Amino acid sequence: MTIQLHDTLQGKKVPFVPQKEGEVTMYLCGPTVYNFAHIGNARPAVVFDLLARLLRRSYKLTFARNITDVDDRINAASVETGKPIEEITARYIKAYNDDVAALGVRPPDVEPRATRHIEEMIAMIETLIEKGFAYEAEGHVLFDVSSNASYGSLSKRDLREMIAGARVEVAPYKKAAHDFVLWKPSTPELPGWDSPWGRGRPGWHIECSAMAEKHLGTTIDIHAGGRDLVFPHHENEMAQSCCAHDGAPFARYWLHNGFLSMDETKMSKSLGNVLLVHELIKTIPGEVIRLALLGAHYKQPLEWSAETIESARRMLDRLYGAVQGVEVPEAARAAAEVPEALIAALEDDLNSPKAMAAFFSLAKDLNKATDDEVRVSLAAQMYASGELMGLLGNDPDEWFSGHVEGDLSSDDIEALIEKRNAAKAARDFEMADAIRDQLGDAGVTIQDSRDGTSWRRS
Ligand code: AMP
Ligand code: ZN
Repeated sequence: MTIQLHDTLQGKKVPFVPQKEGEVTMYLCGPTVYNFAHIGNARPAVVFDLLARLLRRSYKLTFARNITDVDDRINAASVETGKPIEEITARYIKAYNDDVAALGVRPPDVEPRATRHIEEMIAMIETLIEKGFAYEAEGHVLFDVSSNASYGSLSKRDLREMIAGARVEVAPYKKAAHDFVLWKPSTPELPGWDSPWGRGRPGWHIECSAMAEKHLGTTIDIHAGGRDLVFPHHENEMAQSCCAHDGAPFARYWLHNGFLSMDETKMSKSLGNVLLVHELIKTIPGEVIRLALLGAHYKQPLEWSAETIESARRMLDRLYGAVQGVEVPEAARAAAEVPEALIAALEDDLNSPKAMAAFFSLAKDLNKATDDEVRVSLAAQMYASGELMGLLGNDPDEWFSGHVEGDLSSDDIEALIEKRNAAKAARDFEMADAIRDQLGDAGVTIQDSRDGTSWRRS
């Protein structure tokens, strides 16, 4: 079966046919590195890692995930903390990569950084000016939206309606409110590079257009990112790249993940309702978080709660429970195939919940099987499926003994309970409650009685 993907530009699910036979290029907009990633930021990293794993089965994939390391929020973080910009970006690039690796995300083939592609951005801006799609004004260079007839086609916006509805005060150097910045001037204390328009820095959108062109070529197969990026980021990337490349399509398929919310409010740094991956992985195994993120179809919204985590943990317990005690020789593992039903689910626009149902059906068959040879073969298929989904990477005995990275071991739990009892004895109830919550977040329920405190993993 061919892979079917939902393309935002066409507004429907379509068969995926790459530009070059046997090869695929994919670009995912990566993090802006001024802070730790929250669990919503991890969603695109995890779902498109799964897509990359699926594509690599059949194609030679070149997957680029960029790093935005020049941005006004980074400048603000530098002013706020008094730390040099390079120190901030280096710290959060490392944190991001460590965080997503803990969720089983494999490194992309290329991880371009905006600050290392300034020359390419300047060259693209020069081309856009030469071809009449951009203009210079007061040290800025702006993209002239009116010069691009198909502007608005990705986000399904009508430019005339947008102009009529615009209430924003137009900056004096802009010809029209919706013209967007390709280059802007920098003051001496801000990061800046010499350019034909004076010392300045790039706008956000041109970064991705230039990096995608450099590493993946004029037309890329798949461009991915979160829903919020459709407008203006991707609309603007598309306008810049198509105009710079004489109308050649920028991306053949546009994929966007839905938003993760908590208490029905979208998780966002600006709203302050964030759960940091960096914190979560201290007490929850990365695979549990990964499965929780894959628990809904990537296009759907995903509500994050303690129950989301608990249900993912229970599912993994079922998978590990099925393979526990079955010795699978290396040769059997290498020869094992992923069941058709699981592949078919992923090929159907990356339907991860349906793929997990196929995974469970395999676990059920294994639980029922009595013949040793059949059990080894089914367990080998489970490991092959785990390899594709990014799950089942731990030893089952270690999984159940709680010695999985990120999980609390039995010793850790006992030590926390002791600390909590000491806090209670000292009438520090705030501390005692905080420890109970910490245990609860890690899926450990405690019960106080006259004989002491007992605990169980839920
Ligand atoms: P940022 O670092 O803010 O540019 O975001 C990095 C990626 O995370 C982008 O692809 C965003 O679309 C995505 N993203 C941000 N918040 C959420 C959320 N609550 N749910 C899903 N994706 C998100
Ligand atoms: Zn981008």
